[in-house]
Amino acid sequence: MSIISNLFNDQVTLIEDAKEEIRKVYLEDDRPWVVGYSGGKDSTVVIQLVYEALKELSSEQLNKKIYVISSDTLVETPLIIQSINTTLRRIEEKAIEDNLPIETHKVKPMIEQSFWTNIIGKGYPSPNQQFRWCTDRMKIDPANQFIMDKVNSFGEVIMLLGVREQESATRANVIKSHSTEGKLLMRHSTLTNAYVYAPIKKFSVDDVWNYLLNHESPWGDDNYELYRLYSDSNSGECPLVVDKTIKEAAGSCGNSRFGCWVCTVVNEDKALTGFINNGHDWMKPLLNFRNWLSSIRDDRSMRMKYRMNGQVYYLQVQIIEHNGEDCILIPKKGDRKREFIPVTEFEIIDQAELKTYLKENNIDLSTSDDPNILIRDSEDNYYRLGLGPFTLEARKEILTRLLKVQKNLKHPHDESYQLIQEDELKEIRKIWFNNGDFEDSLPMIYYDIFGYDLDWEKDDRLLFDRDDLTQLELMCEEEGLDYRLMKRLLLIEKEHSEFKMKRGLMDQLSSALNQDYLHL
Ligand code: SF4
Repeated sequence: MSIISNLFNDQVTLIEDAKEEIRKVYLEDDRPWVVGYSGGKDSTVVIQLVYEALKELSSEQLNKKIYVISSDTLVETPLIIQSINTTLRRIEEKAIEDNLPIETHKVKPMIEQSFWTNIIGKGYPSPNQQFRWCTDRMKIDPANQFIMDKVNSFGEVIMLLGVREQESATRANVIKSHSTEGKLLMRHSTLTNAYVYAPIKKFSVDDVWNYLLNHESPWGDDNYELYRLYSDSNSGECPLVVDKTIKEAAGSCGNSRFGCWVCTVVNEDKALTGFINNGHDWMKPLLNFRNWLSSIRDDRSMRMKYRMNGQVYYLQVQIIEHNGEDCILIPKKGDRKREFIPVTEFEIIDQAELKTYLKENNIDLSTSDDPNILIRDSEDNYYRLGLGPFTLEARKEILTRLLKVQKNLKHPHDESYQLIQEDELKEIRKIWFNNGDFEDSLPMIYYDIFGYDLDWEKDDRLLFDRDDLTQLELMCEEEGLDYRLMKRLLLIEKEHSEFKMKRGLMDQLSSALNQDYLHL
């Protein structure tokens, strides 16, 4: 009995000390606070503690703003974003009622940097452990932008994060390396004039749950519901990442209920699977789509064989003996298994002959064409062509499938729920056009699936109809010209034709003409 009461007393002291410390830091200066809220347990504890601590201050003492921010990557797991929206609304309403200076905000990626604009528009391969481009663009940059806006208005800000040393040894080291002995604030690793305060850094996971389950949410959320969310999945926390070093220590946040529904960084999705296992069958099409997207990432036929900037690069292959044959080794990566492909299945091409070979065989490296060749250099090393973005055809296929899922999706609580936003579609349309989609296929794809048009802007840059394009292609073939290059040059010329000053025209023409793949 005395052990239990000791534990109880320890918990009371821990909480009271934490609130005391929060009040002390709050009253120390007039720098506003920005609190990251991810919907998970740790950030919930931070906000609840701050709320309770502030309620014990007098109105004269409540002289600086607290901004609670949540990130909405636009591909958040549907039920989670719904609950985050509800919580933000409740916090703000209750704070007004209690006269607390708390405001809530959602931070979103710029449309040019959203998941779909990058994948379907620009053709970025879906993020994985090695190329995790998503967190910066979708979470860190928008949150940092919010913080910098506040820094510009107030001079300095303090970020409150729900990080805990006990989460992992790496996390503990990161927190320690940023802390100064005896100081509660750490310098933000990248943002000048921003500081980080981690009020629950000493909390264990038990402390977190003990507090949440024994202290009612001031704004009326059900902390038991949050507990159930964790207990029926073995997934972890996905902090609202606002500090690069903490991001490195966090690993993938997709391995959690609180990550993006389409996260391809994890091998196996837990965010959606957990919900589906709990009866939310309507999300199954999302899981199937996510699995398909993950499966095509390294499919050579879906990827261009040069980089976005036109640069061709070679990947050296290892040739080893396997079952008595010389084979190239394709190493295991993500879901892909290790593979041995006999060298005899490839045609060996000397590097100097590559351009002629591609021309003679009519191989277009921007399409699904994947010449079955090994490129040999003068020192007898062997290479395959490295992969670039998804081909335009692959991007069209991804969009078509995504829109079909969207059309048939039945969100039980939100009829207007969209997997991809109208603004993203408009942005993707522009990018495709600049990438040579002169047919302007996006509105057609949309119409084919939904049977109606969106309010598309009229794009008077459209130069050709399908017949014109066929003619152009034929002419290029007859004259031995690169069809894509011709389309690109015509587009650049057209873009500048409306302006008297042709500033940048020559640079753009020269960069189009100097793309690597044209000069192998
Ligand atoms: S959940 Fe996955 S896709 Fe989303 S930001 Fe995190 S790592 Fe990227």
